[in-house]
Amino acid sequence: MSDQSAFGGPTRTGWIEVIAGVMFSGKSEELIRRVRRSIIAKKKVQVFKSHLDDRYQGVLSIASHDGRTVEAAPVDSSLQIAQQINPLADVVAIDEAQFLDAGIVDLATSLANQGIRVIVAGTDTDFRGEPFGAMPQLMAVAEMVDKLHAICVICGGPASRNQRLLGGKPARYDSPTIMVGGRESYEARCRHCHQVPLRDEDQVPLL
Ligand code: ADP
Ligand code: ZN
Repeated sequence: MSDQSAFGGPTRTGWIEVIAGVMFSGKSEELIRRVRRSIIAKKKVQVFKSHLDDRYQGVLSIASHDGRTVEAAPVDSSLQIAQQINPLADVVAIDEAQFLDAGIVDLATSLANQGIRVIVAGTDTDFRGEPFGAMPQLMAVAEMVDKLHAICVICGGPASRNQRLLGGKPARYDSPTIMVGGRESYEARCRHCHQVPLRDEDQVPLL
């Protein structure tokens, strides 16, 4: 996995790393691992997360689904992150970036240009399987992108889709993009087991 030595030798610091993937793919685990290692390396680390998601541990920490945590400042806009940046920070980590506004791309870029290692984690596709928020742009401008997979709960293959369930049934294509929930409302599934009523009826025909 990406680390400070990823470029193999002394180099100017300041870059963007993106940890993308579906829910349950281990993004928070990986973000926490990178943050812990930076702290061991005596770097000054700041951690933020969208406060739309406050599963398990309340708003002041990032919790992975296996219960590991690090302290994080809750934010709901890129401006709030910009206002809290410590000029001495070496590493800035941001979780649940899909919920943040498009300004996160310029902010991450300018932090990286100023020598900060920026680690951004987020769900890159919404429940429809379509690009989510600013994640596609972040993945494009990042030096390093890791796309993680969960395990499809139906077939056991690598899962790349968030299956939203409403009352136990697949949510329709026209349901809202943002609906925060845990295991009761989302499942990890592969492309083939992912179901989105009103989309699946509208496939492009093969000629
Ligand atoms: P993310 O931040 O991507 O939602 P987390 O780091 O919070 O992921 O959680 C990853 C953990 O979720 C795994 O280590 C595993 O213990 C658990 N988990 C639960 N369901 C699944 C699944 N379907 N596939 C893989 N891991 C799962
Ligand atoms: Zn599957």
